[in-house]
Amino acid sequence: MPDVHVFSIPMRTRFRGIAVREGMLLRGRAGWGEFSPFLEYDATVAEPWLRAAVEAAAGDWPDPVRDRVPVNVTVPAVDPGAAHAIVRAGGCTTAKVKVAEPGQTTSDDEARLEAVRDALGPSGAIRVDANGAWDVDTAIRVTSLLDRAAGGLEYVEQPCATVEELALVRRRVNVPVAADESIRRAEDPYRVRDLEAADIAVLKVQPLGGVRACLRIAEDIGLPVVVSSALETSVGIAAGVALAAALPDLPYACGLATVQLLTDDVVREPLLPSDGWLPVVRPEVDDARLAALAAGEERTAHWTARLAAIRQDQ
Ligand SMILES: [Mg+2]
Repeated sequence: MPDVHVFSIPMRTRFRGIAVREGMLLRGRAGWGEFSPFLEYDATVAEPWLRAAVEAAAGDWPDPVRDRVPVNVTVPAVDPGAAHAIVRAGGCTTAKVKVAEPGQTTSDDEARLEAVRDALGPSGAIRVDANGAWDVDTAIRVTSLLDRAAGGLEYVEQPCATVEELALVRRRVNVPVAADESIRRAEDPYRVRDLEAADIAVLKVQPLGGVRACLRIAEDIGLPVVVSSALETSVGIAAGVALAAALPDLPYACGLATVQLLTDDVVREPLLPSDGWLPVVRPEVDDARLAALAAGEERTAHWTARLAAIRQDQ
């Protein structure tokens, strides 16, 4: 088995416009690391993703301070009945609910949130994610409506597109604001902090250059962190789990329960939650799954060239 492997795994449903998740696994002395920047990213944007993979392959992760991490169930922009069923099946006490979907109304979001609260019970936590869809006035108005429909929101994630808008919204709503899309590069969390644009920072290991880099950012910005995935296989998710396990404080459930969005996985035992928790483990890659999920010749050549371009820049 070579030390570089390109995988191609169909998604269960299209997510982020992606129907097939592709990426590369790199093997080092500690095992495999995942390098799976989205296809539209150029070499500069993808470079930190490679650093995260190299760190994982070298096994250079900080010591964990806990042996399991809480995760949320994700509820897409589905009807109330489906939302209720997803939350019940998820077994988590925190639900992240997609809102502000194009073509839907605020009443659709309210009905979905009422169903989620019903399924979760009064003690569960509900967060909503608008993916930057609202302008400032809409965000202020709708957030309070959704807060009421949900019987209390834990936070609203990325209500508007820009950091400046987040800062304005944050001063006008009673619900905490989380920054997700506003944090894509290593310098972004500092901007969010300096503009006091969010109460919570969503950190993803690959785009920010690895577990240790994220840990440093978390320490520097002094905001509570929600660790989330970038739609990885269990190899990439394990890096997110390593970060969540090493953070001194972990007040929020993580967005790491995403391997079920893929139809298959490269490991023997995928990192799937049990009763709302992921174990702090590094799952073993399965050679048979690797072979079955290997990308074709053309895609393998594409990824090999991509990797070479980043290494050349360094
Ligand atoms: Mg988000």
